[in-house]
Amino acid sequence: MKFIFVTGGVVSSLGKGLTAAALGTLLENRGLKVALQKFDPYLNVDPGTMSPYQHGEVYVLDDGAETDLDLGHYERFTSTKLSRLNNLTSGQVYQTVLNNEREGVYLGKTVQVIPHVTDEIKRRIWVVADQTKADVLITEIGGTTGDIEGLPFLEAIREFALEAGIGNTCFIHVTYVPFIKAAGELKTKPTQQSVAKLREIGITPHLIAARCEKPLDKELRHKISMFCSVPLEAVIEVKDVDHSIYELPLMLQRERADDLVCRVLHLDAPPAKMTHWQEIIRKLIAPQHRVRVGVVGKYMGLQDAYKSVYEAIMHGGIGNDCGVEIVQVDSEEIEKKDGERILEGLGGICVPGGFGERGIEGKIKAAKFARENKVPYLGLCLGMQIATIEFARNVLKLDKAHSTEFDEATPHPVIALLDAQKKVTKKGGTMRLGAQPCQLVVGSQAGKLYGSFVINERHRHRFEFNNSYREKFEKAGFTFSGTSPDNKLVEVIELKDHPFFIASQFHPEFLSKPHQPHPLFKGFIAAAHQHIHHKPI
Ligand code: GLN
Repeated sequence: MKFIFVTGGVVSSLGKGLTAAALGTLLENRGLKVALQKFDPYLNVDPGTMSPYQHGEVYVLDDGAETDLDLGHYERFTSTKLSRLNNLTSGQVYQTVLNNEREGVYLGKTVQVIPHVTDEIKRRIWVVADQTKADVLITEIGGTTGDIEGLPFLEAIREFALEAGIGNTCFIHVTYVPFIKAAGELKTKPTQQSVAKLREIGITPHLIAARCEKPLDKELRHKISMFCSVPLEAVIEVKDVDHSIYELPLMLQRERADDLVCRVLHLDAPPAKMTHWQEIIRKLIAPQHRVRVGVVGKYMGLQDAYKSVYEAIMHGGIGNDCGVEIVQVDSEEIEKKDGERILEGLGGICVPGGFGERGIEGKIKAAKFARENKVPYLGLCLGMQIATIEFARNVLKLDKAHSTEFDEATPHPVIALLDAQKKVTKKGGTMRLGAQPCQLVVGSQAGKLYGSFVINERHRHRFEFNNSYREKFEKAGFTFSGTSPDNKLVEVIELKDHPFFIASQFHPEFLSKPHQPHPLFKGFIAAAHQHIHHKPI
């Protein structure tokens, strides 16, 4: 088995995760089995309890693990199946080491960062290697070289390279080559210093992926090669993408990054055929149709908070050869007088997941606007609960209907705490999480879109539709098109007499890929285009 480690230098947010994922795409298309994992040096056990302002989206896996959003990129760019083992945090490492210490595993030794913490990190690489049985395991180390928290991880991968043997490990350093306006040129010094830092630890990269806004000319490549001690062809230019992150595999291929990795790792694999990927890019750059849809949330301008939702919407566009412009609508703006007018002219409205009271009334107004004006609506988790509250208040005339998450004293708790949640007191990892089966109703719109009736979708919630209201809703045309197989939990709702009003208690956005758009998103964009196509954008 071969191992690739991706580290980052100079600044964060360079797209290390995307680079790792895009390399995964190329290697997979060379016929190799690829697995990916992420190491996060922070002390939280997982990102599940972190605010989107701190961390962006929490990405949920089939097994219910709440993980870093980079795992979303891994799943979208490759066919790798991820589990909770694929996201290791310092918190988990220390938790294990401290538990071991209490159990007497270390037999009287002084427990130290080296070797006990580093051994635990190495063990986790071997565990994932063993479980995935991949040809290549790509491990991304979060943070930036030079961070104190990151040191044990870097030490661990240095040691790991020795254990793995000569020719089995490839180090990739993703770095930044800034353009200095006053000088009118790109500067390589930060890269040199970041690589120097890495070499101090004992790691010399095999490949440098230089993120830059302008092309990296021969002279600069030479400079980086010379001072960072990497061959010239191993200095890879990774310019900002023009249109879409999905251009990245093609960009890396043009720079021969995958050839180089194969050479370093002595992998004999034919060149990647990327025609299907080029077709995806064509549909993103020059689509036959165009539509504009709104995402109504409360973390607007924060690109990472609804990452998978935005991606899945774009995939829905790819599935319809339709370019999608996503309008980020701040739900608090809708709360203002006539605020719903912001929604006019949109082909569709999506209300994604969320927690907490801020902006809730604006989302309810958005659902009302979509229902009354027959604008396609897609609700995701909280978005389903919002549609329920709206219908209860405005159609069933259940005054002050609400979710008990937001109003515990509501006279009509149409959304209430799941039974299984009633005794839960701890916050970390205690929601209803991960893949759960759902039975769709024959003849429902959701059933038609999926083309099957038993589906598995990922969840992350504490509240649910209150079954004592089911009959009332159903009589008024609010239908339950998906439930848990025992019919106890409502999973999908849709409206009769509406072109497209579907909402799910689960998060379909976690299962969408550019080459396999999720049926609900594909249907949503088709309906949005249908709704608006007579109006010029
Ligand atoms: N806050 C809601 C719940 O816990 C919705 C969660 C979500 O949208 N992920 O049920």
